[in-house]
Amino acid sequence: AAANIGVVGLAVMGSNLARNLASREGNTVAVFNRSPERTRALLSEHPEAEFVGTETVQAFADALQRPRTAIIMVQAGAATDAVIDQLTEVFEPGDIIVDGGNALFTDTIRREAAVRETGIHFVGAGISGGEEGALNGPSIMPGGSAESYETLGPILASIAARADDGEPCVTHIGTDGAGHFVKMVHNGIEYADMQLIAESYDLLRHVGGYEPAQIADIFTEWDSGELESYLIQITAEVLRQVDAETGKPLVDVILDAAGMKGTGTWTVQQALALGVPATGIAEAVFARGVSGRADQRAAVRATIDARPQPADVGDTFVDDVRRALYSSKVIAYAQGFDTILAGGAEYGWALDPGAIAKIWREGCIIRARFLNTIAEAYSRNRRLESLIADEFFASAVADGAPAWRRVVSVAALSGVPAPAFSSSLSYYDSIGAERLPAALVQGQRDFFGAHTYRRNDRDGIFHTLWSGDRSEVRTDA
Ligand code: NDP
Repeated sequence: AAANIGVVGLAVMGSNLARNLASREGNTVAVFNRSPERTRALLSEHPEAEFVGTETVQAFADALQRPRTAIIMVQAGAATDAVIDQLTEVFEPGDIIVDGGNALFTDTIRREAAVRETGIHFVGAGISGGEEGALNGPSIMPGGSAESYETLGPILASIAARADDGEPCVTHIGTDGAGHFVKMVHNGIEYADMQLIAESYDLLRHVGGYEPAQIADIFTEWDSGELESYLIQITAEVLRQVDAETGKPLVDVILDAAGMKGTGTWTVQQALALGVPATGIAEAVFARGVSGRADQRAAVRATIDARPQPADVGDTFVDDVRRALYSSKVIAYAQGFDTILAGGAEYGWALDPGAIAKIWREGCIIRARFLNTIAEAYSRNRRLESLIADEFFASAVADGAPAWRRVVSVAALSGVPAPAFSSSLSYYDSIGAERLPAALVQGQRDFFGAHTYRRNDRDGIFHTLWSGDRSEVRTDA
């Protein structure tokens, strides 16, 4: 057997990952794809790469040194199950199967348990960075057993992106589905971050009166500060792009209906199930949903004058939007990390939020300077209750709050939608409130359903006899 690692599934992600692996000193990569044409194409297009092309699963298994290690990069869902079944037929105990696709983490938990029965290790690994990341260095979030990570860790570290301090953007996240869970939340945070940037653009354009090319310059300037990130950089590039056909800014000819493939929705479903108010991510998913409802939008638009109303923005508007974006972004990440930690508690993973922040510093779509700051917050206090309870973020958000409030009020007054901005601000005001109207909600619940309430002045569980003499009774004594 000639190859020390294998890749199954040679569409864009798999072939790029295989090329990345082959480019590392000492690696020979066995490659296999259901349709052999893809395998042949990869071999002929990249004669320089150390590949062993195989056209049957058996030949693939035979090409691999033992214990075998193979990474699957096929469509998530049934295709992944089909490939796992084929590999477990020909692999042996001690071999390692890695699923690098975007699997739902509960599928990964199920698959890990089933494959473990055969003595083969199964590792669900979230891989972020798109096709370019797969080729040049992604951020990798592997789950699975600690034992399999001993073999796999060095291989993944060799192909992962590297942060400025040289650390590879990969760490063993936790057992079974932990890696895919964290990758899912990464994507949820990505949704929120993109939506916040999009709202910033919309406000600068329709309230501030700036043109796309000017907004591109504004973003480029922001990229030299605390907002420095891949998403800000690509946003500037998209805004600068001019449509060759019409001469208009490209953003003006792209249909305003945002697509999605499901990981944002999964994150929100999980947050709901875990009781985590991931409002920023939820608003971002809902905003994409609103954008896609063309018929409803047309019907409602016909009934209202939706043109932005003139609003007094003052002369600090651009900087206000920058501060609002930063504060809202802190909230989105705080909620994302809350979701991760709640998932860890629910599914029994000892997740390290600082280590997760570190492997997102490069390679993945949300890569940003900001992730270093988050890692530092968790190294100051591993058990931080909330990112915004960290001294640094607490004062950053408090400093930005006046600007944030101005932006949200200007958005409301002018009628330019800013769901993620305003929802993040409400979250901040709620989580930090002295007292919430939840007390009244408890009163209502007790009134119609005898759901009882606690008091803030003494222990016990109480109920008011609403339909009787309205005296209070203690129900737990
Ligand atoms: P696709 O998701 O488009 O999947 C195509 C690959 O799946 C082909 O190799 C195809 O083989 C194979 N396949 C489909 N059905 C089966 C089956 N029943 N049995 C065997 N093989 C099958 O490829 P991508 O490269 O875009 O993505 C691969 C994985 O990586 C996915 O899970 C995706 O979610 C994930 N991912 C993608 C990112 C991206 O930016 N595209 C980023 C991060 C993760 P054939 O050639 O024979 O049809």
